[in-house]
Amino acid sequence: MKIFTSFLFIITFLVSCGDQDQSNETFSSDQGLSQEHKKEFKKDLIEVTEDIYVGVGYGLANSIMIETENSLVIVDTLGSVERAEELYQDFRDISEKPIAAIVYTHNHLDHLGGATVFYNENETEIYAQENIIYNLDNIATTIRPIIFQRSARQFGIPLPEEEIVHQGIGGFLEINDQETLGLVRPTILFDESLTIEIDNLKFVLVHVPGETDDHLYVWIPEKQAVMVGDNFYRSFANLYAIRGTKFRNPMEWVDSLDKIRLLNAEHLVPSHSRPISGKENVEKALTDYRDGIQFVHDQTIRYANKGLTPDEIVQKVKLPKHLAVSPYLQPFYGSISSYVRSTFSGYIGWFSGNISDLHPLTVEERAKKLEVIAQRQTKISDEAKNALDNGEYQWALELADMLIALDENNTQAKNIKAAAADQLAKFQLASNDYYFYKTVAGELRNEIDVNPSTPNRVTSEQLQATPMKAIMKSLPVNLNADKSVEITKKYEFRFIDSEEVYTIHIRKGVAQLSKIPDSSAEVKVITDQQTLKEVFAGLKNVAAISLLLANNTIEVEGGKLEFLKFLGLFTD
Ligand SMILES: [Zn+2]
Repeated sequence: MKIFTSFLFIITFLVSCGDQDQSNETFSSDQGLSQEHKKEFKKDLIEVTEDIYVGVGYGLANSIMIETENSLVIVDTLGSVERAEELYQDFRDISEKPIAAIVYTHNHLDHLGGATVFYNENETEIYAQENIIYNLDNIATTIRPIIFQRSARQFGIPLPEEEIVHQGIGGFLEINDQETLGLVRPTILFDESLTIEIDNLKFVLVHVPGETDDHLYVWIPEKQAVMVGDNFYRSFANLYAIRGTKFRNPMEWVDSLDKIRLLNAEHLVPSHSRPISGKENVEKALTDYRDGIQFVHDQTIRYANKGLTPDEIVQKVKLPKHLAVSPYLQPFYGSISSYVRSTFSGYIGWFSGNISDLHPLTVEERAKKLEVIAQRQTKISDEAKNALDNGEYQWALELADMLIALDENNTQAKNIKAAAADQLAKFQLASNDYYFYKTVAGELRNEIDVNPSTPNRVTSEQLQATPMKAIMKSLPVNLNADKSVEITKKYEFRFIDSEEVYTIHIRKGVAQLSKIPDSSAEVKVITDQQTLKEVFAGLKNVAAISLLLANNTIEVEGGKLEFLKFLGLFTD
């Protein structure tokens, strides 16, 4: 390993010698880590607005200082005592007032590790959302060894300094064995929200799950400033960290961003990357951000519902152009394919749905079989038949998959796979596994059809018992991204038999669902709940819907045709 690293270093060195001006061009934005993005983390103490200062580039994360009449409030504390001390001195050049409060935006150590520097037992309270306790204790105990090892790899901790370009959401990571962790446990916890007043300045703390389930934002109404922790930074939202994280629910994150958007803030101060000021800029940044997340979520679920496996969905889910070019959605920290896989596993679990993946060969078994094939120099199709004849049923499945990947209409391969699945079923003690093999075998032979797009037999009575909200929530994950990518339009749904109002804002490939009335909606639909449920659940065909429109059972302001066009956006 060491030799390899030195070898790389020599190459870098030689390249640098060749052209002095390009000494930093080992990486460029179109072939690796972006040098341009590094500027985001240039060390700076920024005055966001009067009395609000943010230290950027002192550590991986930011630390924010708010000055009140007689005190200071610190939001996040950097990741180590050494880094925090450096920033503390710079904060002290601005004000010598006592620190009355520290707020932790969430449990990650890059925000907590410098706390002892700012904390004074006699004058400081530390505020956090209550889920932080479980997270702190869990990471510190049960899964510490593996998270430690994978974090070292994710951040390149053992690599020589010259190989570190940036860390995606910060310039460098200060959490390592050279630096001291100065964590102090929170003293005041809350569940949903908490308003604190320090010298007549109001701080509203609100639980907004996103990157973690203990996230909060700090809203200072008088300053029109919101501190959002890691629920926004200048990199695509990290829906999964490859160091290992539990499921980060994308739609919880989106809902939290929508709550933050409603504040209509003048200043957005994230805990990584630089602050954004100006209401329009803040709204644009937050809207792109939530749309990027929702797009990945909805399209992943849409394809999963069609029966695609994670490997296949990764090939399908690509951000539409306007989001792909957004400066807030560049995947500088994690990869979008990783977020697709995490969304799939968060909802559906580890099993891809391909029967070949249920009980795969061991790596060693597969390697041995490949070695044999390579020596024999035979065709995959011959080997698949051999495997079946020799009773190597799992190997037959895996080889048949390769043939089907090359030609999806290869009937012979499908028959081999079906026969192998039938044979494997015989060995299953578990009923779930047994039936899965048998059913898939029948499907491969076209004897059985469990096509996910076949309409479910939902009855009117069942729909009556289903809340409107559940029906409405199923719409966005069915939005056809290609059909809607050029459309920006708001639709409002009102009911003659309920006070509920829903708006769906189709915004270029994303359908934002909200329960807030919107007077700017271009299309207003008024009907009774059951009628709309039956239409959305697919119980009415186009002729039946046209009749409902003609006899005004469904009233539409903005053009009857618009309602049909709207429905068309949710079909293939
Ligand atoms: Zn962070």
